[in-house]
Amino acid sequence: MTGAIVKISGPTVVAQGLEGAAMYNLVKVGSRNLLGEIVRLERDGATIQVYEETTGLSVGEPVLDTGRPLEAELGPGLLSSVFDGVQRPLPRLAETEGAWIARGAAADPLSREARWLFDPAVGPGDAVGPGDVIGSVRETERIVHRIMVPPGVSGTIDAIRGGTARVTDEVARLTDGTGLTLSQRWPVRRPRPLAGRLPPERPFLTGQRIFDTLFPLAVGGTAIVPGGFGTGKTIVEYTLAKFARADVIVYVGCGERGNEMTDVLAEFPRLVDPETGRPLMERTVLIANTSNMPVAAREASIYTGITIAEYYRDMGYEVALMADSTSRWAEALRELAARLGEMPGEEGYPTSLPTRLSQFYERAGAAECVGRPSRRGAVTVVSAISPPGGDFSEPVTQASIRVAGALWALDADLARRRHFPAVDWTRSFSLYVDRLAGWFRREVSGEWSALRAELFRVLQQDLDLQEIVQLVGVDALVDQDRLVLETARVMREGYLCQHAFSEVDATCPPAKQVWMLKVMLAIGAHGRRELERGVPLETILSSPLFERAARLKDHPPSDFEAHARGVLAEIEGRAGDG
Ligand code: ADP
Repeated sequence: MTGAIVKISGPTVVAQGLEGAAMYNLVKVGSRNLLGEIVRLERDGATIQVYEETTGLSVGEPVLDTGRPLEAELGPGLLSSVFDGVQRPLPRLAETEGAWIARGAAADPLSREARWLFDPAVGPGDAVGPGDVIGSVRETERIVHRIMVPPGVSGTIDAIRGGTARVTDEVARLTDGTGLTLSQRWPVRRPRPLAGRLPPERPFLTGQRIFDTLFPLAVGGTAIVPGGFGTGKTIVEYTLAKFARADVIVYVGCGERGNEMTDVLAEFPRLVDPETGRPLMERTVLIANTSNMPVAAREASIYTGITIAEYYRDMGYEVALMADSTSRWAEALRELAARLGEMPGEEGYPTSLPTRLSQFYERAGAAECVGRPSRRGAVTVVSAISPPGGDFSEPVTQASIRVAGALWALDADLARRRHFPAVDWTRSFSLYVDRLAGWFRREVSGEWSALRAELFRVLQQDLDLQEIVQLVGVDALVDQDRLVLETARVMREGYLCQHAFSEVDATCPPAKQVWMLKVMLAIGAHGRRELERGVPLETILSSPLFERAARLKDHPPSDFEAHARGVLAEIEGRAGDG
């Protein structure tokens, strides 16, 4: 069906003659075939969001309905790719900064030339249904790409062919004539089907002590990371992409400024997977938007990203989706809603903002996948939020806090004092703590919950004492309280602080976390006993133990337990001395 443009307003275009088209159908706009999406259908025309720059477009030019919604192309070759918000492949690096693909260029998301070695898993006569694995392709060294029957398709295999194939080649045929290729398509705004949801029972280990110990995220859970400019959101996302336990990473970047995404594009390909020593890109799909790219593409980007994440989940993988930042997405939404003349809600955001956000986060989860053989996979979402001026009372932060499972609140004061990760533990939370406690106690240490509670207690005492110090000065405190301040300082600096660029400490396994806590708490307890015995505070504080506690994190995890036991024995020895 073809219509014609009657009105152009920035990225929004109104066309007539598309009466039979469906909402959210993809259209090709103008003689240059710019990509767009129908976002409103009324008797006097269809309103279209155009994903590309509309300058030069004029009234009267044709608009072609493709009859399909915005879809992602899913198949081998996604890993290591860099796409824009509507999955057009971007040049691998930002060396040609600004020279994005030409407008209207019909660029296929997946390479049409690449050849993959297809290894069939079913044979003629086998009955197959949606999600069934018909074979596999080794996509990268680490990831085997399972080729699945697309949702909605079922039948009996008539023929299947192993060997090299391109993503569009038919590798299997059903008796009803349906051909199956290595790739499939899926409308990005619709969640891919699941066989069932699973409760969040395992931690999404980040290797960051403040998160794993105090505010753990579950595999299949959601965490939000709000913070003002320069508080460390991007570093959190990078560190997690690098060290968190995930098979596949989907990184959706919406740059604050034009050049920020360029940094991501330049830096990401240089990151090395610490587990394999190979480029991190081999298990990463990067979706990049800069603020100088059209808003509609930016708005679509998180849907494209989560669809790709769900697709790898369907293969049985644990996928982490990092979004930096959802505020830029919400701003795109606001801009588009304003152009559509929608009734604005708080701070100009459309009233649908909370619903849209929760629909997005609901696509995270641990799941029983559709199809045979049975598989379990998960999508875990960590999204950064950039509240203007770092003020968490603004609508995007507020709406996100209501739906997120964990809040990692970044604080400008802590960042200014170079306390990194600048997580404000008084404002942060995790709703997964109780569910995950069993796992930590079973897999890491029976004392996990007790140690965690003790750490919290020291931090809370510290906070209360700091208030008193502010009012009347440290001299007003009794020795016991001054000892608490010192123990808390060691825990803040030695435990909560974790330098992202440290050779040894950039990541910290849970076993090391437990032993660090044991030693630190033992030193505090030892100090209290010494005080009770009448040893002067100055003598206790000048003991090298405090310094050793503060430097525990620099000891490599490989023989950490032995090291920790050594320090504990030393404490006991000292206790024995007196
Ligand atoms: P944002 O994305 O919130 O604007 P960034 O992630 O770019 O902030 O962080 C700003 C700066 O803070 C970084 O360049 C780095 O110097 C410092 N920083 C943040 N987190 C850490 C960390 N975990 N370890 C060391 N430095 C950090």
